[in-house]
Amino acid sequence: MKANWKNIFIYLLLLLTAVAVIAPLFPSDKGVKEIDFSNFLDLVDQGKVADVTIAGDRVSGKLTDKTKFLTRALNYPRLVPDLRSKGIAIKIDSPVEANWAWNLAIQLLIPIAFFGLLWWLLIRQAQSTNSQAMAFGKSRAKPLIGKVNVTFADVAGVDEAKEELVEIVDFLKNPAKFQALGAKMPKGLLLMGAPGTGKTLLARAIAGEAGVPFFSLSGSDFVEMFVGVGASRVRNLFTEAKKQTPAIVFMDEIDAVGRHRGAGVGGGHDEREQTLNQLLVEMDGFDPKTNIIIIAATNRPDILDPALLRPGRFDRQVILDKPDLNGREAILKIHGKNKPLAKDVDYNVVARRTPGFTGADLENVLNEAAILAARANKKEVAMEEVEEAIDRVIAGPEKKSRVISDQEKRIVAFHEVGHAIVSKLLPHADPVHKISILPRGMALGYTLQLPTEDRHLISKSESLDKIAVMLGGRAAEEIIFGEITSGAENDLERATALAKKMVCEFGMSDLGLRTFGRKDKQVFLGRNIAEMKDYSEETAERIDEEIGKIINSCHKNARELLNKHKLELEAIAKVLMEKETLENDSLEEALKGLTDFQDDQASGHPS
Ligand code: ADP
Ligand code: MG
Ligand code: ZN
Repeated sequence: MKANWKNIFIYLLLLLTAVAVIAPLFPSDKGVKEIDFSNFLDLVDQGKVADVTIAGDRVSGKLTDKTKFLTRALNYPRLVPDLRSKGIAIKIDSPVEANWAWNLAIQLLIPIAFFGLLWWLLIRQAQSTNSQAMAFGKSRAKPLIGKVNVTFADVAGVDEAKEELVEIVDFLKNPAKFQALGAKMPKGLLLMGAPGTGKTLLARAIAGEAGVPFFSLSGSDFVEMFVGVGASRVRNLFTEAKKQTPAIVFMDEIDAVGRHRGAGVGGGHDEREQTLNQLLVEMDGFDPKTNIIIIAATNRPDILDPALLRPGRFDRQVILDKPDLNGREAILKIHGKNKPLAKDVDYNVVARRTPGFTGADLENVLNEAAILAARANKKEVAMEEVEEAIDRVIAGPEKKSRVISDQEKRIVAFHEVGHAIVSKLLPHADPVHKISILPRGMALGYTLQLPTEDRHLISKSESLDKIAVMLGGRAAEEIIFGEITSGAENDLERATALAKKMVCEFGMSDLGLRTFGRKDKQVFLGRNIAEMKDYSEETAERIDEEIGKIINSCHKNARELLNKHKLELEAIAKVLMEKETLENDSLEEALKGLTDFQDDQASGHPS
């Protein structure tokens, strides 16, 4: 509609311009005979002229036979006396008046048309964004209540996240129960996970379950061309939400606004910063009793501004991992429900074939299979189609990196179990919380260690054990495969960094009690801006040597431990390959045998 009006307006301007330019080229008086001046004088003499109008040099009028004529006369003083003598009626017009319409057109319309066009061109783009901003003033984020028919039953394989969210829905449905016990609702919850792991789906499930107003917006809605638009949208959003508490505000893909401030180059940053600042102001601004909870989702938690993650903001963070075997089976069940599957389709088998697949990938597999079956004019989706669909999804654009081959799975499993065993056996290492061979972020697999207590001091033994654990992954690969892979890159980086700290900052090497390299630390940001070299070349060599010594001895330590426990290493890796993720009970179970052994050892060689 809006665009139509604009178009009509522009065409009108163009038309007027064209008329104004072209019209003067055509004579205005129709059916008028142009005659020479001499001719005209003859006609006067012959008494054939009825009346005459003089407008400057323009002489027009009517002949006795009613034909209109037009001629031009220049400085002919005898004209009027001649006409008088013949008794012809004379009318005098002002010269402009004869041509007023066209003069007006040229003098007024052309400039107007010109400036109109210019104006239109200049603000054409501005207008489109602007009108959106205006529309938002009337609140673009309409709350959804009862319009979403997704429930928690439609989400599987992300139990941890689901638990957190169920709790929040409970709170919103029954705030009195919690408040009676003095419990405060969390303000913000951040869902983090790879694309397709079900973040948006979970948020929609909350909207379906909670029965409270659910305001949903995507981060990209906030980033506009004009500085201030995003910020005012955030303000409006919260004003609306506060009118309808309890309410949920969901911000999908918050990384679009929540990027680290001051990072990157180029325009648009001011806008994003303002929007982010406004968001922070709003989050700090309402008191916990307002019963608004803000849920945000991102697949790039690494680039989020740290201010967003501070207590009182998105202080609850939930990671949505790629689903493990059981999770995948459950997701397949959900998406297979409304498809006629043949008897030979075994969800467990499909789940086994698809390590590394996200919920979205699995949904895609079943969908592709259904398409293939339909194309073959089948009434049911058979395993044959599912198999082909898996291959299709694996081969699909940019998906190659997501699949894990069996050999890779083996390597990653031994690598992660290597970390876990070394950390279990070393007295000063942090206990292992979870190991997984499913990719998370850039890592192929991961071992999650949680310190038993908060620590600010780290001893030399702890540092050495930490490094040994980091190198345990690589050591396991060496022992089992006699071959090493690039998978330990991050481990080596971290191990080197810690070893370097021991030598250069903690004074924990033979180089003695001094530090090497002065750092200008930006106290508030905690970032190292620059490092200054304050030692000689020879010292630099000795530092390298010391770092190498530490790493080598830790590596040797890790290798020895794993060699001694090769049987356990193989057994646990087998379990991990089967289950893909080991945590809590299952992890304890797997590592149990090692505990006993370590106790024997510990009593034998106290360290
Ligand atoms: P994200 O927002 O994390 O990128 P989505 O929530 O948009 O992922 O997921 C896309 C689709 O994939 C969903 O609509 C759903 O059909 C399917 N899906 C993803 N994760 C799950 C899951 N955990 N359980 C069931 N279906 C899922
Ligand atoms: Mg999403
Ligand atoms: Zn590793």
